[in-house]
Amino acid sequence: MLNPDILHRDFTAEPFWWEAYRPVAGELTELPREVRVAIVGGGYAGLATALELARHGIAAAVLEAQAPGAGASTRNGGAVSGGVNIGKSFSGKSVTIDGARAARLLADAADAFALVDRLIREEQIECFWETKGRFVAAWTSAHFEAQRRRLSLLNAAAQSGAYMVPREQQREEIASDYYHGGMVVERSGKLHPALYYKGLLDACRRREVPVCANAAVRQITPAAPGWRLETSRGTVVAGDVVIATNGYTGDLTPSLERRIVPIASHIIATEELPSELARSLIPKGRTLSDTRRVLCYYRMSPDGRRMIFGGRARFTQVAAAVSARVLYRYMTARFPQLHGVKVTHAWTGNTAFTLDALPHMGENNGLHFCLGCNGSGVAMMTYLGWQTARKIAGMANAACSFDTPDFPDHRLYSGNPWFLPAVGGWYRLRDRMDRLFA
Ligand SMILES: Cc1cc2nc3c(=O)[nH]c(=O)nc-3n(C[C@H](O)[C@H](O)[C@H](O)COP(=O)(O)OP(=O)(O)OC[C@H]3O[C@@H](n4cnc5c(N)ncnc54)[C@H](O)[C@@H]3O)c2cc1C
Repeated sequence: MLNPDILHRDFTAEPFWWEAYRPVAGELTELPREVRVAIVGGGYAGLATALELARHGIAAAVLEAQAPGAGASTRNGGAVSGGVNIGKSFSGKSVTIDGARAARLLADAADAFALVDRLIREEQIECFWETKGRFVAAWTSAHFEAQRRRLSLLNAAAQSGAYMVPREQQREEIASDYYHGGMVVERSGKLHPALYYKGLLDACRRREVPVCANAAVRQITPAAPGWRLETSRGTVVAGDVVIATNGYTGDLTPSLERRIVPIASHIIATEELPSELARSLIPKGRTLSDTRRVLCYYRMSPDGRRMIFGGRARFTQVAAAVSARVLYRYMTARFPQLHGVKVTHAWTGNTAFTLDALPHMGENNGLHFCLGCNGSGVAMMTYLGWQTARKIAGMANAACSFDTPDFPDHRLYSGNPWFLPAVGGWYRLRDRMDRLFA
C-alpha cells in the first residue's frame, strides 16, 4: 500500500545534487568559428575528451545543447565501479563474452576507476570521493551462486577485491534481511556526481577550453578536410568531431541513434534522518545495487544523513511524483524502518544501453564517438572520453578494448524505444517469478 503523504511539502522535482552545483548556461561562451576538435555533448565524456586534448595542446570546443551538465552527469547516483557491471545487459543478464576478451574489458574498466581517482587528485576536485566498496545484493540464492562463479574473473582481471557475504552475515552490510547475501567489491567508490562534474568543468575552463552552452548541433556535414557543424548558435568548422551524447543521442547521428537504447533511471532523496537510524542503514558506507532485472541502487548522501535511492521505477521518463512513489515502495520493502520518512527530491535522467551490453568508442562514418554507458558511466564515460582524446592525439591506444569497429545495431530498431514500457513490465514480472520459484 503506497503512503499518499511521502512527498515532503517542499518536495522538489530536481536532483538533490543540484543544491551543490546546478547546471546553468550563464553568460554564453562565444562559439569558435574554427577549432581542431569539436565535441558534441558536455557531460563527463565530452569534458574528459576536451581536458585530455588540452593536455596534449590540441584545441577543442565543447558544444552542449543545454546548460553544461544538464544530461546524466549531474543526475546519477555517484556510485563508481571498477567494472563490476561490464557485460551486464539491461535485462540484468550477463552477456557471454569470451574469457580472454572479458579479462581485457575488465582490466580496462579497472583503469577507468584508477583514472577517476587520478583526475580527482590531480585537478583537486572536491567531490566527497570515498573508496569504501560496493555490496551487490543477491535477489535469489541462484543469483548468489552466479556471483560466486564470477568472483575469480573479477579479482584476476580487475583486482576487484571481491568476496561473497552469505545471507547470515548480510546485516554487516545492510540493515535488512531482504536479500540472499551478496558480493562485496572493495575496489569501488562513491562521489558527489555534480561536484565531480563541476570539477571537470573547472579544469576545462582553467585550460581555456570553450564550453558552449545552448549550442545544439543540428547538422554535421563533411567540409574537406574536416567537418562543418551547424548549431543553434552558428557554424563551427572542425578537423575532427567527437559524439559524446550518450542517452541523449538523437537524429543528428542516425547511425549511432539506432545503436543506443535510451533508458530512464530515477532517484529519490529522503529528508535528513535521525542520526542513529542514518548510521545503521549501510554500516560500512558502501554503495549498494542488486541483481534484479529491474535493479535498484542506493547509498547515503555525502553527509551520511539521507538515503539516496535509485532504480528503474519505469524504463521511460515519467513525472517525478510517479517515480517517487514506486521508488519509495522499493526502498521501504528493503528498509521497513524507513516507512513514514519523507521524500524531498525526486528526479530522472537517461542512460544509454547498447545491444551487446558494452560501452563503445570508435569511428562511425568518420565521426569519433564514445557512447553506451549501460547504466554505469561515471568512470567509464570519463575513461572513454580520455581514450578518444588520446587516440586523436595519436597516442598508443592499443590497450583500449572498448575501441572496436563492431558496434551492433538491430534491423528492427531505428532509435525509437517504443517497446520499453512493455519490457519493463515483463522484467518486473520475471523478477517476481524468480523470487517465487527460488
Ligand atoms: C538517474 C541516473 C543514475 C545513474 N547512476 C549512476 C551511478 O550511480 N554510477 C554510474 O557510474 N553511472 C550512473 N549513471 C550513468 C551516468 O550518469 C552516465 O553514464 C554518464 O553521466 C554519461 O555521461 P556522458 O557524458 O556520456 O553523457 P551525458 O552526461 O548524458 O551528456 C550528454 C550530453 O549530450 C548533450 N547533447 C545531446 N545531443 C546534443 C546535440 N545535438 N548537440 C549538443 N549537445 C547534445 C545532452 O544535452 C547532454 O548534456 C546514472 C544515470 C542516471 C540517469
